[in-house]
Amino acid sequence: MSVLVYAESTDGKFKKSVFEVVSYAKAIADAVGTSVTAISIGNVAAADLASLGNYGASTVLHVASEQLKQFVNQAYASVIAAAAQHSGADLVVISNSFSGKGLAPRVAAKLEAGLADGAVELPQINGGAMTVKKTAFSGKAFAITELTSAKKVVALNPNAFEVRETGGSAQVEAFSPDIPATDLTTVIQDIVRSTDQVSLPDAEIVVSAGRGLKGPENWGMIEELAAVLGAATACSKPVSDAGWRPHSEHVGQTGIAVSPNLYIAIGISGAIQHLAGVSASKTIVVINKDPEAPFFKAADYGIVGDAFEVVPKLIAAIKAYKG
Ligand code: FAD
Repeated sequence: MSVLVYAESTDGKFKKSVFEVVSYAKAIADAVGTSVTAISIGNVAAADLASLGNYGASTVLHVASEQLKQFVNQAYASVIAAAAQHSGADLVVISNSFSGKGLAPRVAAKLEAGLADGAVELPQINGGAMTVKKTAFSGKAFAITELTSAKKVVALNPNAFEVRETGGSAQVEAFSPDIPATDLTTVIQDIVRSTDQVSLPDAEIVVSAGRGLKGPENWGMIEELAAVLGAATACSKPVSDAGWRPHSEHVGQTGIAVSPNLYIAIGISGAIQHLAGVSASKTIVVINKDPEAPFFKAADYGIVGDAFEVVPKLIAAIKAYKG
């Protein structure tokens, strides 16, 4: 078995989930006695590409096409499938990130591969078959999936596998697959960011608030907390439905799924539909005045208190710490 891993980049940089998937791919490759090839698409510096060797990739295929500077789901899926064929991979590992969720099934369809998305730990390998533990029902349950097809695609949940540094540098090779014209019918001319804020799906820290904030006029302290932490802001569904915040900030089952290192939930009850979009966060901090709020059950740290007292104190403490 040979392993290909997709190294997703944002604005030319790899985020932590890339080092997680490469480490995960390396652990599988070691178990079956093979090596890892990574595929990177877009404008990434040569040193960053080679640095994937530190997490276990021996080769990095780099696609630097002008047409693929911006993420286009169909075209990126074709390139990853072509890289799998080029490298002879029968397992493709992708992060179950915002874009990975769209890519993994497309790559699986193109390769006629079995798919396990939302993997949470290393698979068990039994000859040609692979048993994968994965999240199901919006993270409320686990499913054990057996992949018996010759080719397999596994999408690993962010924050589910620790980064392992192996040392070393990967060999970088240019890769220029033919991209079908039908995959390039979406042309992204320009990306105009509505704010200077950190992009929510890619954010490492998210400050999120709910109906406990009472009204849109009270979001100043949420924005200030986000600013001192270098975080993106998010909100619960009723908040965006009421027009207090833009829909682009709505996280949860019917909104954006986030997987930051730190998710701070302020005045949010923790309904299952909200948790579905945030439970992959590495550390969850909940601030709620109701000690019985369901969110505390999913929290790593909880502060029982009034947000209007706690948040200003938190901002002052972080500012004092930063000097
Ligand atoms: P509330 O449930 O009203 O909770 C407010 C919280 O604030 C309470 O826990 C309260 O104790 C606390 N509070 C009040 N005052 C203060 C204060 N001064 N200081 C601190 N805490 C305070 N919701 C989502 O978020 N995302 C989704 O994607 C989503 N999808 C849905 C899909 C479906 C099909 C359905 C039926 C629902 C969906 N919902 C979703 C809605 C979800 O069920 C909840 O209704 C919603 O998440 C509640 O939002 P909230 O926690 O902001 O508000």
